[in-house]
Order: sequence, then C-alpha cells, then structure tokens
Amino acid sequence: MKKDIHPHYVQANVRCACGNEFITGSTKEQIRVEICSKCHPFFTGKQKLIDTAGRVERFRRKYAQFEEKNQAAAETE
Ligand SMILES: [Zn+2]
Repeated sequence: MKKDIHPHYVQANVRCACGNEFITGSTKEQIRVEICSKCHPFFTGKQKLIDTAGRVERFRRKYAQFEEKNQAAAETE
C-alpha cells in the first residue's frame, strides 16, 4: 500500500434515529443513520408502510391482472 493516500480507518460510533448505537469501522468517528438492524422492518418483522394514496393497493390490483393474463397465455401454448 502507498503511504498517505489512504483514509484513516477508525472505530466508528454509529447512532441510529431509533436510539440504537453500535460500533463499526469507518473513516468517520461519528455516524448518524435513520435506520439500523434494530428498527428496520426486515429485521423487526413489523411492517411500517404508510400508504396514504392507495398506491400499494393499486399496484396489487394491477399485478393480479397481469398474473391472470400470464396464466391464460400459458394455457393456450
Ligand atoms: Zn435503528
């Protein structure tokens, strides 16, 4: 490795918006994040989806139609 061209790698204290803190390696000593493994829905299993415009519902309906068409096409083959 060349000297003086690499950023200094330090132990970083990461603080999440949910209050969770953990240590990782980074070039910064303090990192603030909005979501971490403690509060991400993927890890908590809780769904925190805010669907005010009904977009998810609309997508599901559209996708259901798409699946029906696909099945119909498969049957005619
Ligand atoms: Zn968090």
